[in-house]
Amino acid sequence: MSGQPRDITPYDVGDDYLVVAAGQEERFDDLTRLAANFCGTPIAAISLADEDRFFVKSLVGTELTETAYEDSFWAHAVKDPDLLIVPDALSDTRFATHPFVTSTPFVRFFAGAPLVAPSGHVVGTLCVADQVVRDLNDSQKQILKILARQVIAQLELRSQSIHDPLTGLLNRRFLFEMLERELSRMARKQQPLGLIMLDLDHFKLVNDKFGHEAGDVVLKTIAQILRRNTRREDFACRFGGEEFILVLPETPLATTLERAEEVLQAIREIDLKYNGQSLERITASAGTACYLQHETSPLELLRRADEALYGAKAAGRDQMMIGQPK
Ligand code: GH3
Ligand code: MG
Ligand code: MG
Repeated sequence: MSGQPRDITPYDVGDDYLVVAAGQEERFDDLTRLAANFCGTPIAAISLADEDRFFVKSLVGTELTETAYEDSFWAHAVKDPDLLIVPDALSDTRFATHPFVTSTPFVRFFAGAPLVAPSGHVVGTLCVADQVVRDLNDSQKQILKILARQVIAQLELRSQSIHDPLTGLLNRRFLFEMLERELSRMARKQQPLGLIMLDLDHFKLVNDKFGHEAGDVVLKTIAQILRRNTRREDFACRFGGEEFILVLPETPLATTLERAEEVLQAIREIDLKYNGQSLERITASAGTACYLQHETSPLELLRRADEALYGAKAAGRDQMMIGQPK
């Protein structure tokens, strides 16, 4: 894990939960406040982590300064399968020289419960901290573990609400929420954003000929292709039945077009068998649009991509077109 300060860019810290991009959320702050309250500590935090990044999702009792990103506290707690308790950080070699201890917020006591996902992965910690040497009683320890499970329950609920159950891709609801946020982020950074809208060609025929289940297998295969073609900072969404959208932050038009062509080619190369029967060649049409101007809204960007997609269909399918600003 690295603890560098950041421009809120990592999106999937904590496995697939994608909570970082959403920033501060009341439902997590409520649990942090409860933890501080039950444990009688001034400070409490929820931090999320994967192999090389971590993020403070919720924090009460101290400011989120750059030192709050330092990782040792969280890193150690993540390694502890049960409950990590540090009664006096100054007399603990792992923590004594940590900026969290030697400067604001001058932590002396620290306790962290791991956030264990249903998959068994530890995705972060729920921590409480105090500026005096102390301990937790048994019921406080119990409560901290219970609240850690509630944090996971909230993360799971959120995950279910933003993913499409068939393909596991992000859903339409998340797309709108994320586009709004990403467009303002790109405006702040003066960076472009590419959007690719895909629609499978004559997909109804696949269902008609091979059955709905075979159609589902195709949709899942498309999802795999999209996942393979996304960087960590990209978003692959199922927009509707057989329509998909890729959102590529900080990507200029030329690169967006290359990516769209790569995806169309990967779809052409699909070689699927269903019940021993070879499914016919699958193709898709694409409309791309690139955000450059601040005033472009998510709807405007989608409209441009949709128009281009319509053009690609009209021109004979299995190709892409570029959406033009009005
Ligand atoms: P076009 O090239 O013009 O896009 O033709 P199309 O047949 O792909 O388009 P149309 O809109 O006529 O049909 C879309 C089909 O997608 C119809 C619908 O049954 C199918 N579809 C939508 N969602 C699912 C799904 O979840 N599973 C399966 N198997 N099929 C789906
Ligand atoms: Mg369609
Ligand atoms: Mg279609």
